[in-house]
Amino acid sequence: MPLITPFDPWRNQYCTCPDKFSLSPYTGCGHACLYCYASSYIRNFSNPRPKKDFLKRLENQIKKITKNSIITIANSSDPYQPIEKELKLTRKMLILLEKCELKINIVTKSILISRDLDVLKNLGNVVVSFTFTCMDERLAQRLEPGCICRPLEKLRTISMLSKYIPVAARFDPLIYPLNTTNIKETVNALSDSGVKQIITSTYKTKPDNFKRMCAQFPEHALLWKNLYLTCGERKGGYNYLALSLRQKLVEEVKEAALSEKLKFSTCREGFYNANTTNCDGSSLFIFS
Ligand code: SF4
Repeated sequence: MPLITPFDPWRNQYCTCPDKFSLSPYTGCGHACLYCYASSYIRNFSNPRPKKDFLKRLENQIKKITKNSIITIANSSDPYQPIEKELKLTRKMLILLEKCELKINIVTKSILISRDLDVLKNLGNVVVSFTFTCMDERLAQRLEPGCICRPLEKLRTISMLSKYIPVAARFDPLIYPLNTTNIKETVNALSDSGVKQIITSTYKTKPDNFKRMCAQFPEHALLWKNLYLTCGERKGGYNYLALSLRQKLVEEVKEAALSEKLKFSTCREGFYNANTTNCDGSSLFIFS
């Protein structure tokens, strides 16, 4: 089984990512985000496990990848799993990648990434996409119960990373009305932490994530059923909010980002004209 695979946006008609590869040391994810999309198509998802003989196989397979290719680590699992603290598999992978001339985009929501700053600095061409859903500690804990990092710790981590590495913040998903009441405050906090770009998207329902969300937030279940199932749109296997509400939320994030002089992009919304740069943070690479 190849470890490095062409990025597959699951045939999403709205994906505007450049050509790139996906690489993940782990299968499954322990952050247990209620809104997760990947949990619907990976078996035993909530039990993250390292891929078999990962480093040995990677050493062989990486030789076949053209120099300067973009590799995203990772799309369906956070490379900084709770078990990464002991296993150090992501760290070893990054050390192996130091020798390769690649553009590496690390996508995470864990402060554990700060442990590897020494290695990240040696990678040469690296961008971190740090997912940040809200400033509210209690809400973050309910939304991402397996990710033990508090919002303030995340902001501190972003500050520390962004002194050395370009960081884009993934302020997503926007879950109306949970994390959409203080958009400007959130964007300002991310800006103060040194991010160069805000990437955003609205929450889309799949049956399993919708079940988890409604069970955790029963007070919003009726509203969401109305917004998504009655008034929303069905696209590519997901239920989207109605176009007007999606536009309103995304515009609010954009306005806040531009007022902070940050780059801005949307992910899988179809709002191509709203983006001021590449949708996935790849414009932050050197020589991109
Ligand atoms: S970190 Fe990403 S892959 Fe992991 S549970 Fe959360 S949304 Fe899913």
